[in-house]
Amino acid sequence: MENKIRHVLGISGGKDSAALAIYLKDKYPQLNIEYYFCDTGKELDETYMLIKNLEVYIGKTITRLEAGKYSHEPPFDHFLKLYGGYLPSSNSRWCTRKLKLEPFERFVGDDPVISYVGIRGDEDREGYISKKPNIQSIFPFRKNIWSEDVINKALKNDNILVLANLYEKHVDKAMTKRVLEIVNEPISSNFPQTDKLNALLDLGINVFNKVVFDFLKTIQYPLSYVNDFLLLDNEDVLVRDDIFRILRESGVGVPKYYEKVEFEINGKKGEYARSRSGCFFCFFQQKIEWVWLYEQHPDKFKMAMEYEKDGYSWIQNERLKDIIKPERKRQIKEEQLKHAARNINKKSPYLLDILDEAEGEGCAACFI
Ligand code: SF4
Repeated sequence: MENKIRHVLGISGGKDSAALAIYLKDKYPQLNIEYYFCDTGKELDETYMLIKNLEVYIGKTITRLEAGKYSHEPPFDHFLKLYGGYLPSSNSRWCTRKLKLEPFERFVGDDPVISYVGIRGDEDREGYISKKPNIQSIFPFRKNIWSEDVINKALKNDNILVLANLYEKHVDKAMTKRVLEIVNEPISSNFPQTDKLNALLDLGINVFNKVVFDFLKTIQYPLSYVNDFLLLDNEDVLVRDDIFRILRESGVGVPKYYEKVEFEINGKKGEYARSRSGCFFCFFQQKIEWVWLYEQHPDKFKMAMEYEKDGYSWIQNERLKDIIKPERKRQIKEEQLKHAARNINKKSPYLLDILDEAEGEGCAACFI
């Protein structure tokens, strides 16, 4: 079974998954990773450029997965038609399921798979990831590399004895007493699961990983079938600055849309950019990013506008044709100036450091 485990990494076109591909290639060249990219047909040119650069660096082809591939239309348009022109939104994200998750799940089939996800150590989220039982997600940039479902099972109060026995196997006598105090304390409102998890990780990431790995043998997960896993010893925690450093130092480069562009409004200078990857019309983007799209990629903005018909729009209660009216555009830019002033201490060449509340939204499949 060991040879049948597949290792996969989805490249979203965003910075974190690209940095993860570089990081894993450099640190674990022996991992035979299959790379894939779910192409909606509606990405920015910078995304396709990033993918090309990445292929050169990792020395492998990144497999393009396309939903509705027998259609003569780009995947997004094909499904939009099937949904009767109903544009996706944060409340109805058919696009992520149809264009990203389903092609990925078809790609892996029923094979046991380890899927590496680039959520960083400075993020507190799990992402919108596949929950198929044969797909196990691993988060190499975080202190806790395991997915939520694995942690829920491992730390469940019913499993205290199992965990205690496993810890006794992996820690020396000097450590046993302290570790068992934590392991034996049940999760409760006074001792929530996150506190228990952090307390155990603080006593040793590598030991915790070994214990969880052994615990997986008692339940059915892709990693239950292998005798060893290279990342058990990984204690790296990577944050946003590390991601930009990896991209720059590798020569792959930071996608250009992250770089801020200057604008002027009422004699004052401001900056805008796009904060993440994904379709150029993605409904998760903020209004200032729509203005950026209009001014920096007018052709793409025009295409986005053409989708707004039959009462459907990308933004709730506002049409793109209204966003670009001079008065409205000025208002949005002024808002951006105020926002930047409130974040004056965040000196960074990237808009997402200013719009950081935007980062936790969306999904792992599109933006990581
Ligand atoms: S980038 Fe946005 S529009 Fe495109 S598939 Fe993802 S969530 Fe949907």
